Amino acid sequence: MTSALFSPDVTVQRQARQLARAYTEQILCNLPVAFLMLDARGNIGMVNRTLQQMFALPDDDAWRHCTPGVYLGLPELNERIAQVLASGKHCHELGFDQIIEGKPRTFMADISLAQMAGELAVMVMVQDVTARRHSEEEVHRLAFYDSLTHLPNRRLLHERLLQSMSISARSGKYGAVMFIDLDNFKTLNDTQGHDVGDELLQAVAARLSRNVREGDTVARLGGDEFVVALESLSGIATDAVTQAETIAEKIRAELSQPYQLKTIEHASSPSIGVSLYRGHQNSIDEVLKQADMAMYQAKSTGRNRVCFFDPAMQVAMELRADLEEDLRAAIRRQQMQLHYQMQVDDSGRIIGAEALIRWQHRERGMVSPGEFIPLAEETGMILPIGDWVIEQACAQLKLWEMDASMRHLVLSINVSPRQLSQTWFVEKVKDTMEKYGVRPARLKLELTESFILDDVEEAIVKMGELRDIGVCFAMDDFGTGYSSLSYLKRLPLDQLKIDQSFVRDITRDKNSSVMVRTIISIANNFGLGIIAEGVETDEQHAFLRQYGCIRFQGYLFGKPVPLAEFERLCHLAE
Ligand code: C2E
Ligand code: MG
Ligand code: MG
Repeated sequence: MTSALFSPDVTVQRQARQLARAYTEQILCNLPVAFLMLDARGNIGMVNRTLQQMFALPDDDAWRHCTPGVYLGLPELNERIAQVLASGKHCHELGFDQIIEGKPRTFMADISLAQMAGELAVMVMVQDVTARRHSEEEVHRLAFYDSLTHLPNRRLLHERLLQSMSISARSGKYGAVMFIDLDNFKTLNDTQGHDVGDELLQAVAARLSRNVREGDTVARLGGDEFVVALESLSGIATDAVTQAETIAEKIRAELSQPYQLKTIEHASSPSIGVSLYRGHQNSIDEVLKQADMAMYQAKSTGRNRVCFFDPAMQVAMELRADLEEDLRAAIRRQQMQLHYQMQVDDSGRIIGAEALIRWQHRERGMVSPGEFIPLAEETGMILPIGDWVIEQACAQLKLWEMDASMRHLVLSINVSPRQLSQTWFVEKVKDTMEKYGVRPARLKLELTESFILDDVEEAIVKMGELRDIGVCFAMDDFGTGYSSLSYLKRLPLDQLKIDQSFVRDITRDKNSSVMVRTIISIANNFGLGIIAEGVETDEQHAFLRQYGCIRFQGYLFGKPVPLAEFERLCHLAE
């Protein structure tokens, strides 16, 4: 006999299940996670309040008459639930967008199977991931876009080019990369401030974006450097060049129109370098480098123009890179020498010499300073070279001091703009002269006008300090630069050196002879000495003397020669 208490009572069991279910539902309903629960046939069994709030649905039981897809306005959901029921496999992270109360939101649903009080149920949990998506987008934006212009940055450009190259490899069509640099942007930034500079960059970005097709990319690499990547040009090289050129010219013209900025109207122009590619023949870095080289070509041939990358240019660049490498080694191994070219007075007496650097290259032979000095200036190698020249000159003057036929000579050395702008230049010269016990008046520094223009005030101070102890200064290549007379008056100079181009033409060209006479009269007016360089013929010599020039340097008297030869000539002359 079984007592009523222990007998299996179906009603009690059912009641217990219902209670458990109600209890579970009560808990679930108030959970902060949004969800709805379905039975094994896919009918909604319950929805919780969080879900209703998330979808701005009324807190009623309208769901009883709907499928989940209809209830949430997401028809695709029904299909997915059916798949989960049929396969028994969960469905994770089903994303969908919905407009809720007029605002776009992004949701993520997880569909899984569960046992609810002993029965199979489907649980659909929904998360609102709008904020997460926004922050992901923000991270993406920061990583791939330039914050000032909102254009793609270098990284995104790289990705796009990678895609374009794959497309080009399949289609056989050319693509082009244009490297765009604004001319004189630095001046605008320096004179008007960065805000105005930024404004111009934004205006440029807008104009560029307006002038390309949809599939093309406009990117900003930084500073005033932009890149436009063109896709799907012709498959025939010459046609592709024409197409790219037409677009580049259009961009050039567009960017050269005046800009109405907040405070000023500004005129600007771009220099554009273009490089074509097809497939993956060249790497992205190579194509960009080629376009960059072409851009430099555009800059160096007068700016505001379009240049195409040309393989000959690359050869020249590579040669230059080799030369740079060799020059570094030459400085380390001290393969430089000084040659000396005499300077004479009216009676032909040797009064001094100009020290001219020579580089004996193991393969190329003698490399002219005209070829390597500009390179040395650009790369900063002129500084160790310049220091070496000062040291050599002082050491030489010291030796000449002990030689009766040499001790009266003034030795001129060429000083490059970069050298003089070093903070410790004055100390360097003073220390070296002291080290060798050189009388300052024996040393003359030849400067060119270009350096003076860089920073006149600084030049005046530095020259003044050296001049105070007796060092002399000559203005080299005078007449070829842009020195204004007011600067000339303030610079502590001793001598003007008439540039050899005027001397060369003095007998043939009226302008040159007028120029020479003018320079001589300027020198006289300012109380400066004068010397003519590049004197090759008796005729030139006679003209110069006639105009009142009494100091000369040139092949007529002597070419630049090695030290021993120069000393021999000086001893002969005594
Ligand atoms: P520069 O200072 O104007 O030197 C005069 C140049 O004219 C020298 O060329 C000299 O050899 C050349 N010359 C002299 N007389 C005649 C002549 O009668 N006819 C012709 N046709 N040429 C003549 P170089 O030695 O090739 O030097 C070229 C330039 O390289 C120099 O022009 C100078 O600016 C620079 N340079 C040379 N040595 C140094 C140096 O040690 N340091 C720096 N910074 N620059 C140097
Ligand atoms: Mg010189
Ligand atoms: Mg000169």
